[in-house]
Amino acid sequence: MTDRKPRPRPVPQKPTTKGSVSNENGSKTPCEFSSRCGGCTQVHIPYGEQLKRKQSAVEKLLSGICKVEPILGMSDPWHYRSKVHAVIGTDFKTKQPVSGVYQRGTHRVVPVQGCLIEDPRADRIIQTIVGMIPRYKLRIYNENTHRGFLRHVMVRTGHHTGQIMVILVATASEFPGGKAFVAELTEKHPEITTVVLNVNQKETSMVLGSRDYALFGPGYMEDELLGKRFRISPQSFYQVNARQTEVLYQTAIDLANLTGKETLLDAYCGTGTIGLCASDRVQRLIGVELNADAVRDAKVNAKLNRVTNADFICEDAGRFMVRLAKEGRTPDVLIMDPPRSGSDERFLRSVLTSGPKTIVYVSCNPETLARDARFLVKGHYTAVKAVPVDMFPHTEHCECVMLLQRDAAPGSQSS
Ligand code: SAH
Repeated sequence: MTDRKPRPRPVPQKPTTKGSVSNENGSKTPCEFSSRCGGCTQVHIPYGEQLKRKQSAVEKLLSGICKVEPILGMSDPWHYRSKVHAVIGTDFKTKQPVSGVYQRGTHRVVPVQGCLIEDPRADRIIQTIVGMIPRYKLRIYNENTHRGFLRHVMVRTGHHTGQIMVILVATASEFPGGKAFVAELTEKHPEITTVVLNVNQKETSMVLGSRDYALFGPGYMEDELLGKRFRISPQSFYQVNARQTEVLYQTAIDLANLTGKETLLDAYCGTGTIGLCASDRVQRLIGVELNADAVRDAKVNAKLNRVTNADFICEDAGRFMVRLAKEGRTPDVLIMDPPRSGSDERFLRSVLTSGPKTIVYVSCNPETLARDARFLVKGHYTAVKAVPVDMFPHTEHCECVMLLQRDAAPGSQSS
């Protein structure tokens, strides 16, 4: 584990690729696609101002609960997205293949190139693929008729390893001309380390289907966070902003104040990333996660890093917490990172029953964080402080880490 500290407050920089244009509301924006794409709702606001707004929004939500430290923003808030998804469609006017996003509420693909938040390596690969489509006579999927072959391209890039996984989402596992297609693609982009064919035959808005076939390379990629290596399969959840994920995890681990003697429960652990990054600093790590694929990845990740003090359990976090509380097995430290909807009462009640000394709540939604923190504070916890972390510049989302500590029971010694 490295002792990388969270970055200092940001020095906002200008995007490198485009000048500013006016959006449909008449305000200046550096992105010409923002109003149609709908992803970066804040891109017209200077980055420093975005951070101020996020800071005050979090302060407002957490007022009366705890103090809020200054938000940790990015020094360079552009091109941070490591998972890039492009819909493949046909241009309405030119009838040529295009990549982009669906125009809101329609099946029409709005071409997007040179996105300011996505990794530019992904953009270049997607443009190459679009250019190759006519020569290989790939039939583009039509959302209205549900016919055609190629639906989406997803590119995932490793921040530290530089590995790149290209996922071609298609309606069939037979890919006529596939070998030559992949040979040309990987020759043009030697930086690609694996190409996967994902089959999605469903009439659904879900991008990925359940079947993956490796066409080139191992069928997965790896990246590193805080000195630990993680396997990323096409279906794996992995934070999309690796630079800020390290800031987020380091903040959470620092707040947990680990000494090496603790049992750490990483609840809602996904592929085990937070817990494994902290595993050198605890005696025992238990991860709990509902998604079986993520648990399988977490076990692989533990092996990959030769972590031997970790167990990963596939169960609803609330049920697991109830069991721990009943058995009187209290973790010393709980790091919890629930989805946007927050935790549930069953989980939080069992936290109050079992009473870990320290809770570090990692939240991607300050509203549900405020709700859950109030519940814990009404029990016997004190919310000490919260640190907002900007994982998604130019969007309205804000991540937040909160430290809560168990109050000393009356008559007991506080340590
Ligand atoms: N800590 C991880 C993942 C956070 S995302 C990381 O930083 O990468 C939230 C995770 O909670 C998802 O993996 C989701 O599958 C899991 N989850 C959602 N509901 C759950 C529940 N009731 N019990 C356990 N895990 C749950």
